[in-house]
Amino acid sequence: MSLEENYNNIKNQLPENVQLVAVSKTHPVEAIQEVYDFGQRVFGENKVQELTEKYPLLPKDIQWHLIGHLQTNKVKYIAEFIDTIQSVDSEKLLNEINKEAAKHQRTIKVLLQVKIADEESKFGLEIADAKDLFTKFTNGEFPHVEITGLMGMATFTKDESQIRKEFSVLKTLFDELSEIHTLQTLSMGMSDDFPLAIECGANSVRVGSAIFGRRDYSK
Ligand SMILES: *Cc1c(COP(=O)(O)O)cnc(C)c1O
Repeated sequence: MSLEENYNNIKNQLPENVQLVAVSKTHPVEAIQEVYDFGQRVFGENKVQELTEKYPLLPKDIQWHLIGHLQTNKVKYIAEFIDTIQSVDSEKLLNEINKEAAKHQRTIKVLLQVKIADEESKFGLEIADAKDLFTKFTNGEFPHVEITGLMGMATFTKDESQIRKEFSVLKTLFDELSEIHTLQTLSMGMSDDFPLAIECGANSVRVGSAIFGRRDYSK
């Protein structure tokens, strides 16, 4: 299938209220430009260096989302232009984002990444730590950051009931925190599991390979 067919195929499966983050990591700017020309404006990358190389070569109205693990010493390279950092997994990182956003006199949107998977390898805050951080935010501790939602990744498994269970844990936390302070975004679901994620309450999905094709190597 062509890039356009892939893109339309995904778009057609998304309810109107669900945002698509097109995950373009490892794919060239030409492919991103093509998908942009189909109307897509929100793109996700997982590496700072790759993002900072692509950013100047593409239209300025793209909303870039950082979706991969972010080291504090790299926040400064993206603070000026990043729309949303989906992968906030520590207070130290949130502090740094707040500091760098202040330097640029802007507010950076972030999602708290919560560990819901049954895998040691995955990053993310424990639920209790996510609640603590959110409370500090609602108390005004990070004035140049807006926590707009939560992000999570399910375990890499074929067991649908387990994936459903993990997504539901995040949806429950999302509803709980929403009572304290308005949240917009529940980001869960990738190429293989986004329909399930939407059933479980996701209103933003991060889809890469189902649009751009397989990556040469797993990242
Ligand atoms: C790579 C990646 C995706 C997209 O994965 P696909 O399976 O290619 O859709 C989504 N979220 C994160 C955090 C990723 O690193």
